[in-house]
Amino acid sequence: MSENFEAKTLDSLINMPLATIDIKDDCGITDVPQINSKRSNESEWIKSDEVKKRKRKLKDYQPNYFLSIPITNREITGGIKILQNAIIQQDKRLAKAMVTDGSFHITLLVMQLLTEDEVNIGIDALLELKPFVEEILQGKHLILPFQGIDTFGNQVGFVKLAEGDHINTLLEIAETAKYIFQEKGILAGENRSFKPHLTFMKLSKAPWLRKNGIKKIDPELYEKFINHRFGEEMLYRIDLCSMLKKKQNNGYYHCDSSIVIGEKNGGEPDDAELVRLSKRLVENAVLKAVQQYLEETQNKKQPGEGNSVKTEEADRNGSDRDNNRK
Ligand code: C5P
Repeated sequence: MSENFEAKTLDSLINMPLATIDIKDDCGITDVPQINSKRSNESEWIKSDEVKKRKRKLKDYQPNYFLSIPITNREITGGIKILQNAIIQQDKRLAKAMVTDGSFHITLLVMQLLTEDEVNIGIDALLELKPFVEEILQGKHLILPFQGIDTFGNQVGFVKLAEGDHINTLLEIAETAKYIFQEKGILAGENRSFKPHLTFMKLSKAPWLRKNGIKKIDPELYEKFINHRFGEEMLYRIDLCSMLKKKQNNGYYHCDSSIVIGEKNGGEPDDAELVRLSKRLVENAVLKAVQQYLEETQNKKQPGEGNSVKTEEADRNGSDRDNNRK
């Protein structure tokens, strides 16, 4: 592995929304219910082995994908930049701990998608989530007001959601998403409870800060913003994003799929719908080309006799006629 690659990987890991997660056995994935109560010693042994394996799997579970609500309202992002600059003014070294422009988000759910098939299952699960979110919202917009600052253990600085019913709605959406993804067999969720937050800095982005004596985010750094109203964001999209893939040019995470919330039928198709549509178009074009190729090669094999489709059709008509005779 080249040094450059390692540095890039480390950089990606540092930028992960969740750098370290300790998922225990209570992360919501339940055992398969036992149908036969009289189990032999052998099946007991197999079961305990499976449980051990699953525990190991859950212990090793390292999320690499997440559901993101992008935060793009300029009033909010502008306010965060003012906050970040105010902190940097007090300690220039903290510039490296700041979340970069374009990537502000709320993490709704973290998960592990290791193969292309798993990513496809994730894409399906996200599409499945859309009607549930719309059902929860009952045709209303979900407005998320941001106010005040808090930290996770003085390591991660975030803008809080103001108190209100929107928090319960968001919790319901997060719970529903977790259920849908887990139902599809995806390792998703965390053992800690969901606390919506808009991260603006995290010390883990610059591990060398610790060696330089910066072990905590001093509350004095953000005290002027402690009750600041940053503005409101309307929930309009949920993205399935990779924590590790290269970010987009606009600074936002790589997304494999998105759903747009609150769009009436007949509106502009969302990204996921466009992807499905273009996949279907490509499939149709390939099928057509294969069909044409087959017809041409058949024509070459049997000059003057027409293609095999026609021949088979003629044969079938012939045997039909034979059958009708019986
Ligand atoms: O989700 P987001 O990318 O904003 O998370 C930023 C950091 O906050 C992550 O490193 C995550 O581990 C941490 N976090 C935490 N406690 C929570 C939720 C997130 O320490 N309840």
